Amino acid sequence: MLVYKFGGASVKDAEGVKNLAGIVLRHKDNGLLVVVSAMGKITNKLEELYRAYLEGRDDVQTVFDEVKAFHYQILEQLFSAGHPVFDDIANTFVEIDWILEEEPDEDAPDYIYDQIVSVGEILSTKIVAAYLKEAGCNVEWTDARNYIHTDNTYREGKVNWEKTENDIRKKLLPLLERSIAVTQGFIGSTSENFTTTLGRDGSDYSAAIFASCLDAKSVTIWKDVPGVLNADPKWFDETQRIPQLSYHDAIELAYYGATIIHPKTIKPIQNKNIPLLVRSFLHPDAEGTDITSANNHLPVPSFIFKINQALISIFPKDFSFIIEENLSDIFSLFHKHKIKITTMLNSAISFSVSFDHDAAKLQALIADLSVHYKVKYNTGLELVTIRYYNQETIDRVTAGKNILLEVKSRYTCQIVMRDKTVPA
Ligand code: ASP
Ligand code: MG
Repeated sequence: MLVYKFGGASVKDAEGVKNLAGIVLRHKDNGLLVVVSAMGKITNKLEELYRAYLEGRDDVQTVFDEVKAFHYQILEQLFSAGHPVFDDIANTFVEIDWILEEEPDEDAPDYIYDQIVSVGEILSTKIVAAYLKEAGCNVEWTDARNYIHTDNTYREGKVNWEKTENDIRKKLLPLLERSIAVTQGFIGSTSENFTTTLGRDGSDYSAAIFASCLDAKSVTIWKDVPGVLNADPKWFDETQRIPQLSYHDAIELAYYGATIIHPKTIKPIQNKNIPLLVRSFLHPDAEGTDITSANNHLPVPSFIFKINQALISIFPKDFSFIIEENLSDIFSLFHKHKIKITTMLNSAISFSVSFDHDAAKLQALIADLSVHYKVKYNTGLELVTIRYYNQETIDRVTAGKNILLEVKSRYTCQIVMRDKTVPA
């Protein structure tokens, strides 16, 4: 049993769907589950539609028309007129029409979000499955909501593993013995059959859930990059593909903000020791990155870069020490304001923390902290995390920077810094 996951970038246009079919058709046998995300940037568009609807804006229909036009234009390039997929897609849009006809229930915004935004994956998989069938593939469109069972935490459904595993084994396994299945990433359903989503970029996680419950031989994530790189080409000139990566390193890189794989993806497949293969959909035969339990390769220093960081330093007003009591107090305020810490360091009389800067959250946090603490802060900072650092890599990334905070553990170094040209 194999699981292939195709993200939005791989199916952003008709060419992408044809390319996907080329990759799937090389795998002629059954025993393949294909997990597909919404096409291109459609999830963002559907989020816009959701906001327009919730706020009662008058561009609701315009935004919805853009979503429709995008899909119809792809359909027209893939199928001749009169193909049944046109009706199937039109009927899927009707489901959104029904939602938009009603007044929005302001008490249930997350529920509404999931009902609207999940449609992106329904559309993409219907198109992909119809195209694969047209191309001679023995394929069945499969509704992930019959398999991925969650609680009713809309926008971030928590998976009910027992129920999910049970249904996948009982119903999906036999189906996969008959044909290839195409299903949606990102979505699931509650025990009352309402649609939930698993959090943005959650399709990797869906693929991992399916793979784990199917005891798959491997999961392949088909991407527009040649594999996991040791840095984001957006920020670094010289990047290098990492051919072998341990689960542990993959989790660490995802945790520190590498966007290559969704952080929740690794755990389920690591538990079953299922290899995660990252491959390029543009060069399907090229080597990519194999993420496995193997841990015996030479580590390559990896760089994760984040901009727009805030750094605050917290001092007890009475100059007492920073002790456990203060820390638990401080952490609960971060939790209250939903601020995710990116680095922290404590000394005897101060505690410093960096996080993604959000002006409103920062002001609210400082107001709360100021009751008991003196607070100093900086914004507009950069954070670089180096996994497997050495002095040379630190020197390279800090050239021309002022360092405000540096935290080192055995393998990971994090530096909060500011360009020397930016006034303090
Ligand atoms: N379509 C969803 C998103 O863009 C899920 C995914 O692509 O993984 O967030
Ligand atoms: Mg996506």
